[in-house]
Amino acid sequence: MPENDYDLYAFVAGDALKEGHTFQLQCNCGGTAPMTPPLKTEFVVCPKCASKIKVLVIAGDPGYIIGRDASGEPTLLSVQGSAATPPHQLPPEERRRIIERVKQQMRKQGK
Ligand SMILES: [Zn+2]
Repeated sequence: MPENDYDLYAFVAGDALKEGHTFQLQCNCGGTAPMTPPLKTEFVVCPKCASKIKVLVIAGDPGYIIGRDASGEPTLLSVQGSAATPPHQLPPEERRRIIERVKQQMRKQGK
């Protein structure tokens, strides 16, 4: 199976994946794919739309991941299982502030 044969990517906070607890991964279609750690595979399949979702586990709970939108502008991506408010629920002003903060952190870490 090719390495990049996934329909979707989902970031999940490592803190949410406590062994023995089933985590409900949200698919873009509104379906949920349950996953129970320890994970045997690095992807789950949505029971509703059959999308193959690659799970990217982020250590701890970083709150947000910076991505790029279609125009190349930095945008916040939600981390599932995070205690942080989902980016689309934040006011635009707050989103901008967080993006600036995360960018500064990334610069400090030399990334
Ligand atoms: Zn789905």
